[in-house]
Amino acid sequence: MTKTTKKVIINGLVWFDGQLRPADIFITAEGLIGAISQPGKIEVQEDVQQIDAKGHWILPGAIDLHAHLQDGAERFFPGSCAAASGGVTTFVDMPPFHVCSTVEGVRERIDLAETESVVDFCQGGGIVVSLSDLAGIASLKEIGLPYFKVFMPAEPPVGAGLLWKSVNVAARYGLRMAIHVEEPGCFNESVDWNDPLGFARSRPDVAEVSATAQVLEMARAAGAPVHICHVSSGRTADLIARYKSQGVDVTAETCPHFLILEESAFLTYGSRVKTTPPLRKAQDCRVLWQALNDGVIDAVVSDHYLSDNPDGYSEPSLEQKEGGIAGIELTFTLLYHTGVREGDLSLDRFVHALAIAPARVAGIYNRKGSISLDKDADLVIFDPEQEWEAQPLHRHSRIATVPYQGWKLRGKVVSTIVRGETVWDGQTICVAKGFGKWIACQNRK
Ligand SMILES: [Zn+2]
Repeated sequence: MTKTTKKVIINGLVWFDGQLRPADIFITAEGLIGAISQPGKIEVQEDVQQIDAKGHWILPGAIDLHAHLQDGAERFFPGSCAAASGGVTTFVDMPPFHVCSTVEGVRERIDLAETESVVDFCQGGGIVVSLSDLAGIASLKEIGLPYFKVFMPAEPPVGAGLLWKSVNVAARYGLRMAIHVEEPGCFNESVDWNDPLGFARSRPDVAEVSATAQVLEMARAAGAPVHICHVSSGRTADLIARYKSQGVDVTAETCPHFLILEESAFLTYGSRVKTTPPLRKAQDCRVLWQALNDGVIDAVVSDHYLSDNPDGYSEPSLEQKEGGIAGIELTFTLLYHTGVREGDLSLDRFVHALAIAPARVAGIYNRKGSISLDKDADLVIFDPEQEWEAQPLHRHSRIATVPYQGWKLRGKVVSTIVRGETVWDGQTICVAKGFGKWIACQNRK
């Protein structure tokens, strides 16, 4: 185990046991939470570094369940730096198609991430788009993957037969099946690219909702654990609520853009907001916020992805641009600003959505996801009042932050600590490439 300088964080308000309260945190040389005590009670010896968090909150580091950090235009090092600057202490890497469908493929990718990433990570499996991808999936659970992914709107699409086989693999091996739910049979065959809303209209929500119904019914029948990726439609959330209440082991995520931006954002931001599934109506945003508050949607993820423009954001046309919205560095603040400050999201649900629930889904709650004794000291020191303007942030990520650049946001990540080490101090990345470690999924509760 790597050693770090022992630390004590003083004068902050610490989130633990479901509340924000004045406390000091002692971090051991192993980078674990050694004590959470009333202010002033921790004896500070010479070899202990003191961090003053006056006026700040100390929250559990965010765990991003769905981020494409070595895919499209992004790479593990810059992507993980962007993650660190946004309070993400662990991400679950979503691989490109086929890449992590075998143990060898997974090991190779983990090796790469361990030499590049500055924050910790879990590895997603898959992505299954054909029958041959499914053959190696069963062996992935043993090496500690939290889930494998199936992508329905592939070419050719994943049909009911492959879906049912995948669900049965999930059931048999107890390995969660994450899924991009869209039934391409419901897409419009031609898209009116001259209409700013043409793309959104070409992928109506019936594609997502009907696919979700099929997946959930299969999961119920087979007894499979499933995870619904990037929920965009309110009706999808309604279905998830119903199956959850029936005891089906379904977890779900949504993204800031589905909560914050409605379809009309295409008129303002054009191709910057093109992603799949597409943005929906204002009513969908309302239902998704409610579902997040109710725990129907477990986690908020970035789904950080952009296929091109590594060196600057020129504006491709709606037709040219491949779907994807970046912004792993903004999830934390966006959710705080729009949810906790301006919306009805409680701080408790905020912490659940960004840390507790994703840690549970990823099977790493035994060591991450909350500020608790003997867990990894993965922390965000957060200034809840600071106002700042979202920048394209080319300094980290290889891809521009779209569409939020220029937005005035309240709440800023002051520093990000991973296993007791300051990875981001508000100005710079303070660790070397490869500081990040692969975290195997160990428990699923
Ligand atoms: Zn994705």
